[in-house]
Amino acid sequence: MTRETTIRTITAETLRSLPLPDPAGGSKEARGSALVIAGSVEVPGAAILAGTAALRAGAGKLQMSIAAGTAPHAALAVPEALVVRLPEGEDGHVDHAQAAEVLLPRTERAAAILIGAGMVSGEPTRALTAALLSGPAQGPFVLDAASIDGLCEQAQAVRARGGRVVLTPHAGEMARCLGWERDAVEADPLAAARRAVELLGAVVVMKGAETWIVDPAGDVWHYRGGGAGLATSGSGDVLAGIIVGLLARGTTPAEAAAWGVFLHGEAGRRLARSCGPIGFLARELSGEVPGLMRDVA
Ligand code: AMP
Ligand code: MG
Repeated sequence: MTRETTIRTITAETLRSLPLPDPAGGSKEARGSALVIAGSVEVPGAAILAGTAALRAGAGKLQMSIAAGTAPHAALAVPEALVVRLPEGEDGHVDHAQAAEVLLPRTERAAAILIGAGMVSGEPTRALTAALLSGPAQGPFVLDAASIDGLCEQAQAVRARGGRVVLTPHAGEMARCLGWERDAVEADPLAAARRAVELLGAVVVMKGAETWIVDPAGDVWHYRGGGAGLATSGSGDVLAGIIVGLLARGTTPAEAAAWGVFLHGEAGRRLARSCGPIGFLARELSGEVPGLMRDVA
């Protein structure tokens, strides 16, 4: 990237000049339906964490897909959701080829789509991600965790979305995306994020104790906060859910990424104060989000 870029620090102050779409008087249709494709037989909770976070960030409606055998439990855990049952193969895991057929028509109607949180890394998830990216979806995508693995090898499917994709890798996932060593990503996470943006033309949220966001224009956002309590199982699933919820409301991809990182981090800070600096649960983060959005506005 040759042009000079500014690095903006994400604070309540900087976000106040980028207000979220006004919810006043809006219907649930106007605030959009988030489609959360997440979780697996071993980690069904990822879909629950991300789906709940999408609603807490203000999405009007939630559709959550989950392996058929787990679907009734997920439906009871998130009674607000429409649960899409994904067909299972003989091994009890989701049959991804059949899942693509079930999901493609739903992507067409969703305002924003999340893929990957808590899913199993490997070729089936890669193929499902590529099929959905190349399908009829109108809305933006969030790609997290397993859906990021090897993504730079199928860069065209992401590029074709014209910047309407947000990636949320941690260092290990970024390393597997770029084919770099993890140490190299950790040594210069901003350089890694810039390289991924160059290849994919997407918004990249490079997560860690500090988070860097780079958008397709090369603009950079930096967030230092949240605290060590956020380094806990399920935390990233909540972040991905917040971002897809903000996208469903019509927030632009770069602003949804910046707001999402801020809301997730500040939720961690609030829980650190009320509960203790470590030991709060990822599922507790979402409940802080509506009040934070009110307080920043
Ligand atoms: P994941 O690894 O996908 O569960 O995501 C973890 C989330 O917690 C990301 O949003 C990170 O930026 C954040 N996080 C992890 N460790 C820390 C830390 N030590 N301080 C602040 N935030 C962190
Ligand atoms: Mg994660």
